[in-house]
Amino acid sequence: SVDVAWAQAWIRSSAQVLSEHRAELNTLDREIGDGDHGENMDRGFQAVLPKLDAVPDAATPGELLKTLAATLISTVGGAAGPLYGTAYLKAAAAVSGAAELDGPAVVALLSAGRDGIVLRGKAESGDKTMVDAWTPAVDAAIEAEAAGAGPGLILAAAADAAEAGAVATEPWVARKGRASYLGERAIGHRDPGAQSTALILRCAADAAA
Ligand code: ADP
Ligand code: MG
Ligand code: MG
Repeated sequence: SVDVAWAQAWIRSSAQVLSEHRAELNTLDREIGDGDHGENMDRGFQAVLPKLDAVPDAATPGELLKTLAATLISTVGGAAGPLYGTAYLKAAAAVSGAAELDGPAVVALLSAGRDGIVLRGKAESGDKTMVDAWTPAVDAAIEAEAAGAGPGLILAAAADAAEAGAVATEPWVARKGRASYLGERAIGHRDPGAQSTALILRCAADAAA
């Protein structure tokens, strides 16, 4: 079930996977940015691990996500820290108080996370940012929930859509962030933030499986 143990597993596996993909995310960011996206994400998620140990068993998923948000905002420099920080903060608020998340709550969590990123960074779909992984994920989650899927399948549908969304950024010119300075030279490269979002949402699905 999608409860506090799920939130623990989601955040811990995200830290593990982001650390494993640190070099790959740096490489993507070297192509169209300043080469630090893997480093930024790894630093932020490693910093939250000791705090997770201190969280009481009676905590809610929302409380864990709030801790993660505060950690990312305070430890990750660059664009991704405040963007992901706002995503987790809004996601936490959307499920605050709930001990266990049902399908509609999972949709609300994902959708609030995406809205937080858009609020903070003002990117639209097609601007070649992490929004291009989040928005297809939210759309797929809404569709899966409407078709009667439970939280686990909703998260799996979101993860699939985020991966496809990240791949879809490759042929695009960027209109937000550092990559937007490159014009046509950004063409042919996957957006690093969209790729980290795909990794993180896959962890969310795997933690519920
Ligand atoms: P920085 O660009 O400051 O070095 P990172 O490399 O950690 O920060 O993160 C870069 C990622 O942030 C990009 O790949 C993109 O997905 C995302 N990003 C940048 N600006 C925006 C924005 N305005 N809205 C949404 N996402 C953005
Ligand atoms: Mg960077
Ligand atoms: Mg940077």
